[in-house]
Amino acid sequence: MPQTIVGLELPDLQKALGEGHPAYRARQIYDAVYRQRVADLVQISTLPVNLRKELTSKLTLGLPKLVAEYSSSDGTRRYLLGLEDQRTIETVLMPEERRDTICISSQVGCPVNCQFCLTALLGLERNLTPGEIVGQVLFVMRTHQLSAASEQLNIVMMGMGEPLLNLANVIKATRLLVDREGIGLAERRITLSTAGIVPKIEELGREPIRPKLAISLNASTEEQRRELMPITRKYSLKDLLAAAKAYPLRPWEKLTFEYVLLKDVNDTDADARRVVKLLAHLNAKVNLIALNPGPGITFETPEPARVHAFQGIVRRAMPCFVRKPRGRDIFAACGQLKREG
Ligand code: SAH
Repeated sequence: MPQTIVGLELPDLQKALGEGHPAYRARQIYDAVYRQRVADLVQISTLPVNLRKELTSKLTLGLPKLVAEYSSSDGTRRYLLGLEDQRTIETVLMPEERRDTICISSQVGCPVNCQFCLTALLGLERNLTPGEIVGQVLFVMRTHQLSAASEQLNIVMMGMGEPLLNLANVIKATRLLVDREGIGLAERRITLSTAGIVPKIEELGREPIRPKLAISLNASTEEQRRELMPITRKYSLKDLLAAAKAYPLRPWEKLTFEYVLLKDVNDTDADARRVVKLLAHLNAKVNLIALNPGPGITFETPEPARVHAFQGIVRRAMPCFVRKPRGRDIFAACGQLKREG
């Protein structure tokens, strides 16, 4: 398979071009791919025709291909995107009045077996390359002519997969996303969410350029979390909270904890009080997500009044928001990405 350009940083691109080209050629290509977001190498009109021919003979652009698109009544779009090896992933665009959010995948499938999540049923097929991670963003920005300049574009790595189990590629993708010579997104507009891979949280904290960290808490006791998220058997809640405490936050950053509310399972006032206790010593905020239902998921969604009561208790101690479900009608909401129509 020819090497793909999307995913290459400038020095990689220089190397891929090979000897005999002036240094500015790589920069021209870099600019066309990441800043102008061309759909095809032949569209790079600043390059001599011969070079364009040479390029297409040894390199491909490597953007994902549209396989299917679903539109929700609330404006959310879910894209099924095809990769070079014919595998598919999902990417979601959630437009809002003054900001847009693109939710991208980090793996094909997911190895973390959360009991309430549909993606878990797929198991892990493989990691995405940096190019496949960045390619989702380029695809959506191109399709909807979104700009990075206004700082109103957010990226959340909360689609299929566990980003911290593909950390090196996620970090390389992040560097490409924030490069001012290229895509130019703001670092503080990119967030990754993890089920709690403790040693990788420590590794993430050592990266100079990295997304903001969100942690899926989803339970208020060790035992409850072990049942809902079997990964906890390996990485305990206690160790997770210790890693959160030690995590080097940047001055503008808070830790986000996500909490999926499951009716009569983890949604009681006592759960809310325990969540407050667990997080009280952290610089944290909490995002509550009422369960998005799906076929094969045995849990139920709590009533809105229960969600509000839970929020009321947590909010007395720290910022606490309820995440609006987006695109539930097209299976685009959290925990619903399963690659089907
Ligand atoms: N693997 C990462 C990234 C997925 S982010 C992680 O676990 O954080 C997706 C978020 O949606 C997580 O917080 C997850 O707990 C939550 N989620 C999963 N299934 C859900 C469902 N059915 N309803 C609502 N939220 C769900």
